[in-house]
Amino acid sequence: MAPSTPKVAAAAARHAPVATIERSPEQRALEVLRGAFARFERVAISFSGAEDVVLIDLAARVLGDEDVPVFSLDTGRLHAQTYRFLETVRGHFAVDLDVLAPDAEEVARLVRAKGLFSFYEDGHGECCAIRKIQPLRRKLAHLDAWITGQRSDQSATRADLPVEQKDLAFSTASHPITKFNPLSGWTGSDVWAYIRRRQLPYNSLHDQGFVSIGCEPCTRPIGPHQHERDGRWWWENATDKECGLHAQNVSRPVRFVGS
Ligand code: SF4
Repeated sequence: MAPSTPKVAAAAARHAPVATIERSPEQRALEVLRGAFARFERVAISFSGAEDVVLIDLAARVLGDEDVPVFSLDTGRLHAQTYRFLETVRGHFAVDLDVLAPDAEEVARLVRAKGLFSFYEDGHGECCAIRKIQPLRRKLAHLDAWITGQRSDQSATRADLPVEQKDLAFSTASHPITKFNPLSGWTGSDVWAYIRRRQLPYNSLHDQGFVSIGCEPCTRPIGPHQHERDGRWWWENATDKECGLHAQNVSRPVRFVGS
């Protein structure tokens, strides 16, 4: 029965179970995005996968489609399905998607020296530095904040992920950069429930057993009892599974060539 007076209603609210007054993950993410766009003019969403489609949709609800600033890293080694997905997203949201390419001469130098698959021999750091980190660093030189789709339950390296943090990997003394992770508290199920409810596009590789999708040579489908990041850089330790975009998640410093 509803409380009969304002005083009783206030008391009832004070003693209500916490779950009834907590914000949902979706409300929390919208709040983080509103704050990010209010505080920073030079801010953009980093787009690559399912979480980022959710971010773009949430941001569009805050800003309006045309105003959502989005960039994506084209490493040159993505699946054909991923390239098609990028174009589908560009059309679905009518966003101005800035697709960043690596420095062609740096890529050529690496391939000349070590071939196309050196990461299987000496780790992914060098290739990721050229194809991901350096283009991102060039982009972030023109931004004061960026927004990622990282979730804290994705891997051991992301367990303590806050919704907002100083970006220790890309900030400099004269140019601090803030990183927002609005989906930090979301689960994979939350992401997919949102995608289905809002009928958002997704990478068709998800229908073939891929969960976390990166470059073609460094990504494979996973089995039913594997963790989603097990399909990334599977030949390396779980604690090393960051490509440098989120290097501060790794407690042991990772050195990247040219970064
Ligand atoms: S994920 Fe693999 S192919 Fe892609 S940039 Fe890193 S090492 Fe190179």
